[in-house]
This record gives sequence, structure tokens and C-alpha cells, in this order.
Amino acid sequence: MGYPAYNSIDYNRKRCDILAIKIFVDQGHNPTGSPNAGAEGFGVREEDITYHVGMYLAAILEADYRFEVRVSRNTPTEVLGTSNASSLIRRVELANSWPADYFISIHANANTNPAINGSEVYVYRTESEAFYLAEHILSEIVRRVGTKNNGVRVNSSLYVLRRTTMPAVLVELAYLTNEGDIQYLVEDQYQFAYAIYVGLLNYLNLPQLENLFG
Ligand SMILES: [Zn+2]
Repeated sequence: MGYPAYNSIDYNRKRCDILAIKIFVDQGHNPTGSPNAGAEGFGVREEDITYHVGMYLAAILEADYRFEVRVSRNTPTEVLGTSNASSLIRRVELANSWPADYFISIHANANTNPAINGSEVYVYRTESEAFYLAEHILSEIVRRVGTKNNGVRVNSSLYVLRRTTMPAVLVELAYLTNEGDIQYLVEDQYQFAYAIYVGLLNYLNLPQLENLFG
């Protein structure tokens, strides 16, 4: 009596401002026809897949008060940089200057051998926060989408992993050049995004929210 009604939504909002975990979602590559465009398979472009999966992931994270999210490409036509190198530099600058807490770069793979398939996640080094985050993301992708598990791989030469100042992972969703994988890449873009989200939650030991679209 006499007290203002306690408002849990405002409370969550306040916590969010202080504690929200900042996720930078990097949709690998630039639009078709520009520098740093991606690979192609079965007439499907990598940059289109990565754009959409990144946007789904951003929408899911935005709906969860525990996260703040930014993406590298805000529209399908946005071009970052004027060359391969400057495009990667720009993506890292955007994440480092925020600064993000985690960096998730999304790609789709290609191989001259059409039999090669599966998902893999690249990190800068083993026994790092990024490595364990990568393990969680990869196992959730394999579980939800059904791709082959190619494991977490170390690649210390990838620019976005080397120059980001926060734990960074580069997710190769599946192979554009494989007949089975291309179906997943075209039809299961939301599932890939949701799997990355759940992998992130599992890594952070956070429960899934009941009312979030799954
Ligand atoms: Zn790529």
C-alpha cells in the first residue's frame, strides 16, 4: 500500500543496460559483384546464405533481453571495404570499437570435391574461451540441422580470428558444393541461426527463455 507497483519489465530493462552480453554477428563476405564476395555452389551464393542466417541470429538475440547484437551487414546491399583485406579490417574494427564480448563470423564452405560435406568451426587456438564456444555451437548445429560434425579446427591465419580483441569463432555452416549440404543451407537457415544461439546459451550456461520463438 502506498508503494508503486513493482515492474519486472523495467527491472529487466535496467539489468539489460548493465549486463547485456554484446554479440557481434559477422555475415561473411560482401554482396555478389563486390570485393570480398563469397563462394558459389548449385547457383547459390555464400554471401546470401550468410546474410540471412546472420539476420535470423540477430533477430533471435534481439528478442532475448540478456543480449545486445550488432551485425556487419545491415542490409543485403551493404558493402564493407573496397577490397578483400579492407572488408575484413572493417568487420574487425566494428567489433573491436564497440567493443563486443563475442564475435561470431558466419560462412558457408566450398570444395572442388563435391563429396566433402559437414560443418566446422574455426578458432585462433585451442584451450581458449573461443574454442569451448565453438564446440557448443558446432554440436548444436549438428544436433538441430543434421550436418556432419567435422570438428573444431584451429586456424591462426584467419584475419577476423587473429585481430579481434574478444573470443571469436568462424562458423562454416555446411558445403555449398555438396548435394546434401546445399539443401540444409537453403532450407534450414533459421535452424542454423537458432543452433548458434542455443550453442551460445549452453556455453554461457544460460537457460533458454520459455517465450522465445524456437
Ligand atoms: Zn566464406
